[in-house]
Amino acid sequence: MDFNTNLLFGSEFKAFLQKNKNNLICKDLLDDKLSNKKGTNTINFINIAIDNPSKIAFIPRNKIRPFITNLKQAIDVPGILFTNFGYKAVTITGKYTTLVKTINYDTFINHYFNTIVANGLTWHAETRQKSAVMSSPAKFINKLEHNYSEKEIDSFTRLFITLKGDKEFRVVSGDDLVKYYNEDYHYCNSGTLGNSCMRYDSCSEYFELYTDNNVELLCLFIGDKITGRALLWPEVYFEHLGEDKTFMDRVYVNNDLDTGLFKQYAVDKGYVYKEKQDYEYKDTFVFNNESFDESVEFKINGEYDYYPYVDTFTYLYDDALYNRYTEGEALESTDGTGGNVVYSEYEGCHIDRDDAIYSDVYESYIYDSNSIYINDSVFHIEDENICRCESCGEWFEYAERGSDDDVCSECCVFAEDTDGYIDASKALEFDGLWYEESTYSDYRGEQIPTCLAHWSNYEDSFVLEEDLEDIKEEEEAEEK
Ligand SMILES: [Zn+2]
Repeated sequence: MDFNTNLLFGSEFKAFLQKNKNNLICKDLLDDKLSNKKGTNTINFINIAIDNPSKIAFIPRNKIRPFITNLKQAIDVPGILFTNFGYKAVTITGKYTTLVKTINYDTFINHYFNTIVANGLTWHAETRQKSAVMSSPAKFINKLEHNYSEKEIDSFTRLFITLKGDKEFRVVSGDDLVKYYNEDYHYCNSGTLGNSCMRYDSCSEYFELYTDNNVELLCLFIGDKITGRALLWPEVYFEHLGEDKTFMDRVYVNNDLDTGLFKQYAVDKGYVYKEKQDYEYKDTFVFNNESFDESVEFKINGEYDYYPYVDTFTYLYDDALYNRYTEGEALESTDGTGGNVVYSEYEGCHIDRDDAIYSDVYESYIYDSNSIYINDSVFHIEDENICRCESCGEWFEYAERGSDDDVCSECCVFAEDTDGYIDASKALEFDGLWYEESTYSDYRGEQIPTCLAHWSNYEDSFVLEEDLEDIKEEEEAEEK
């Protein structure tokens, strides 16, 4: 056996070949008819890629050195000592080792290939991942000596799409939609699924827009993990088709080839799907193999604290999402905040989302720096309908004004003498009632309501009516 000529296949790849031996290339590989191209970087230890079952992984000759080094602890080759400087042939006498000669890698590999092969760890995922190279099935075949036509290579490649014995579609919604957006439940981190910006734990709060509006997630499962997903938007009206259709949004996959499975699924189910699997081309759709451009909308139930990044129905305005921009904000931020700018009807301009606050009063965003909270509602500081209480300093709605002055109702009291509401701080509380005008009574040593005051010449002071009797008795007693 020789590294350059004998191609060795891992058990998964071998099983794949056996399952598909009707295919010419599979059969030739099984029958050992293929070998490395002469004079090129040879490859060996071939298997289906762990990270991406649509690809083939192998160890190229120039990676064999680190690969073997990683295996060194597991391989027991008598008489060979692994060091950082290469392989040394040694004789071991008791605890002493004697260097016989340094062996170069080619010599080592050729001499000990069988020993390496016999060792099961050659196919061990962790050892392989450090040195293996992944390539498409076509590129792999082209590394070998062959005379296959493009069509033959293509049909070999296609077998990898259907290498899905364990792949199945399931539609999930609600909490499961949130769950399968998370990378913890992704089969691997390759492809567009592996790079999706909504895959992190921190994004789990962003999906209420979907879960609250019956948007579902079509998932391609391998076991309990997904290897592809696409949003399903229910009941989208397409004028071109004259009816409501379920719309399958951008497809995210570990393996590009699986995109075809999603499209086929959409065709089988009668869905409209997105022609191009990206965030551009938001308005080109496909139905029954026919593509068409259209402006569509999707009504939503309300406002949400957070928004996901949205590929197709990107533009949020009022209570709907649109695929073409008219007004409103673009849901293109990946931090849950929706667009970077929002439009303020009240201010008549766009505002950075970070600087904006939504006001229920105006049903519009306004600048946060211009905002005033009154009873949990947001007002603009220059709104003529609000003012600041001269008494307590709090802002209040003018309609809630307590008096003719700019005083809030809490700071006002009903004045008995002037028959109206006035600023409490300027009123006199007397005997449980309030009065606007008051007079100082020397006789009583306090302010008294003017309307209740009587002048006493004898006391040379204002007094109350109830005082008059006492004063009269005093006066009479003195005269006697
Ligand atoms: Zn007040």
